[in-house]
Amino acid sequence: MSDRKTRPATRLVGGRAEVDPATGALGVPVVMASTFHHPDPASPGPYDYSRSGNPTRGAVESLVADLEGGTAGFAFASGMAAITTVLALLGQGDHVLTTRDLYGGTYRALTGLFSRFGVDATFVDATDPAEIEAGLRPGTRMLWLETPSNPLLRITDLARACALARERGVLSVVDNTFMTPLRQRPLDLGADVVVHSATKFLGGHSDLMAGVVVVGEPGLAEQVKYLQNALGGVLSPHDAWLLLRGIKTLKARFDAEEQAAADLARRLVGHPGVERVFYPGLPGHPGAGVHRRQASGPGAVVSFDVGSGDRALEALRAVRIPAVAVSLGGVESILSYPWAMSHAAMPPEHRLALGITPGLLRLSVGLEDPGDLWEDLDRALDGR
Ligand SMILES: *Cc1c(COP(=O)(O)O)cnc(C)c1O
Repeated sequence: MSDRKTRPATRLVGGRAEVDPATGALGVPVVMASTFHHPDPASPGPYDYSRSGNPTRGAVESLVADLEGGTAGFAFASGMAAITTVLALLGQGDHVLTTRDLYGGTYRALTGLFSRFGVDATFVDATDPAEIEAGLRPGTRMLWLETPSNPLLRITDLARACALARERGVLSVVDNTFMTPLRQRPLDLGADVVVHSATKFLGGHSDLMAGVVVVGEPGLAEQVKYLQNALGGVLSPHDAWLLLRGIKTLKARFDAEEQAAADLARRLVGHPGVERVFYPGLPGHPGAGVHRRQASGPGAVVSFDVGSGDRALEALRAVRIPAVAVSLGGVESILSYPWAMSHAAMPPEHRLALGITPGLLRLSVGLEDPGDLWEDLDRALDGR
């Protein structure tokens, strides 16, 4: 190979880059040590204690930093451990501006936990840059964004939003879980921090909880490193290895799942039992243009409204292929019911105001044969 940088799919696989220099083994060794011997007691080597640094965790941290185009990556025991570590950059009196259809766990951390430490959060419709501009105030330290949003897949213009934040010295953070770095790279669009629930597409097999943070600016990397060590919610070496293993097939999985999702979304539009389909790859989607500019594909999650709670429950009971569950991004399709699952804690009038109706279903498309998946959904939506 020349020294030209390889493309993401090549870097995902690891291959020669991951050969263990000690043994020639293909793949990163799982270093299950909590502590490391100091050959020179006066100066510790690269590792001293696994909370502060571990070679297996380090391998996945460098890989995600590289994929997101950042300078440093950090791996955590869950997406929420990653998210709360980034929120811990804030202090008393700081204000966070974020989106109304924020991931429920992030909403909970802001309103139930960080509020107790004097961090104030306000929620706007981030798909409208004017609302972001009006929501930024002198004490705002952080703008927290998610696009496409969950579960309605609404699109925020990242370059515009991050530019508004930057002009005022506000840090912008993007939760990139739904897109993965293969489709959307927020740091390239002006964000300061990217977070992922690696439990979803990066891990990809519904067998792992993990979270990652990637930053561009070295000073910010120092601060996140300090907080990762201070809070201690690190990813275990074994789970770091499982995440590396999952990421190797990310491109193959995401390409196939997205293709199947795009096809299903088009078919759902024509289904008599479906009133509305929410998918950024459909031409009628209000954010389709912005999404196409900032992301290289519509993703593998489709939401659709079947008109009523009764019809939604009927479909959930009738499907045979998708698991009926929360979560997304696994090799198996998952059909979830936001009204009663992820958003149940939200007062009904808030859910309705966001457009989360009793008839809304969210499908994360897996790797099953798309024909089987369509036949199953078609039948379940017909009440057969
Ligand atoms: C699942 C999820 C999280 C939380 O991650 P965990 O791994 O469940 O802690 C955060 N953001 C988004 C968009 C998610 O889907």
